[in-house]
Amino acid sequence: MTTTTPSTEDSLTTGGDRGYLRIATEEAYAHPEMYELYRRHLRDGSLPDIGFNSLVGYFLGSEHPQPKSVVERLQEAGEKRLADMDRAGIDHQVLAITAPGTQVLDAREGADVARKTNDRLAEVCAEHPTRFSALAAVSFEQPDAGAAELERAVTQLGLKGLMANSHIRGRYLDHPDFLPVLEKCAELDVPLYLHPTTPPNSMIAPYREAGLDGAVLGFGAETGLHLLRMITSGLFDRIPGLRVVVGHLGEALPFWADRIDHMHAKQVASKRYDAIGPLEQKPSDYLRSHIWITTSGMPWTKPIMFVRDVVGADRVMYAMDYPYQYELSEVVEQDELPMPLEEKKEFFELTARRVFNLQF
Ligand code: MN
Repeated sequence: MTTTTPSTEDSLTTGGDRGYLRIATEEAYAHPEMYELYRRHLRDGSLPDIGFNSLVGYFLGSEHPQPKSVVERLQEAGEKRLADMDRAGIDHQVLAITAPGTQVLDAREGADVARKTNDRLAEVCAEHPTRFSALAAVSFEQPDAGAAELERAVTQLGLKGLMANSHIRGRYLDHPDFLPVLEKCAELDVPLYLHPTTPPNSMIAPYREAGLDGAVLGFGAETGLHLLRMITSGLFDRIPGLRVVVGHLGEALPFWADRIDHMHAKQVASKRYDAIGPLEQKPSDYLRSHIWITTSGMPWTKPIMFVRDVVGADRVMYAMDYPYQYELSEVVEQDELPMPLEEKKEFFELTARRVFNLQF
């Protein structure tokens, strides 16, 4: 029998007095020059991505205090962010370029944004090495150059992985064009974080007309599709050293795992689709061999415990999704997850240290 004292936000102190540090693993950053570029594109209507114009147009154009405060916080990674982290008991953030990042831009603009973002993130981590680590950005449009920028970011700047904000102007990472970047992740032994963005033009219409293209469902539908494509295309068999982290409790794939395995096996047997062939494992097995899952935006005890049960307790870790979902009560809820202290330490701290090779 366990007894728990009702916990409050007063319990949110940093420093590990509960027996673990809280490492938040999907925390967003936006370089101010990226937002200047976005503003120009929004004004000129020069980017055809409907989701970009809808989502980024809203965040950068709205006078509502909520998006304004998010946009302000996204661009800062110093004293204000540290104060927010202190208030929420967050010891350490793993920072990464916010969606859509470089992935609506052409090769030249994307590479420029990636380089500036990586340089700035490296400075931020050097200023506060115990509070921040960061993932690299690249342009995926010229994959060899993207792979070279990833190598620079990891080996020279000390960044800890690669952020991919889902589709790349309507293309997915199972496309053979992107192999050089993914092979570089494996070669450097750093994870790729597959993060949502709005669905591409080919998918967004029925979501958008209902107002559901954002985080409410469209993000998850698109990113879950992306991850499943990576699995069923055989990408992890081709690059066995590729490690992927995905947020939002696995973008629903753990819940679908049994049906995916069942239907995939039938499709392999019937040879219905050229794109569906035999894999070395069942599709759901890749959730237990190549994929790690964070709780960003999903601070709900029941599905957290379900996903841990499906994929293994050592593969599920904490994320806040700052500043989009800066909710102190959600940290308290996850402090209260029904698991022993050593598993909570895995959940909040040790899995992140292992997956991202954090050194602080
Ligand atoms: Mn996020």
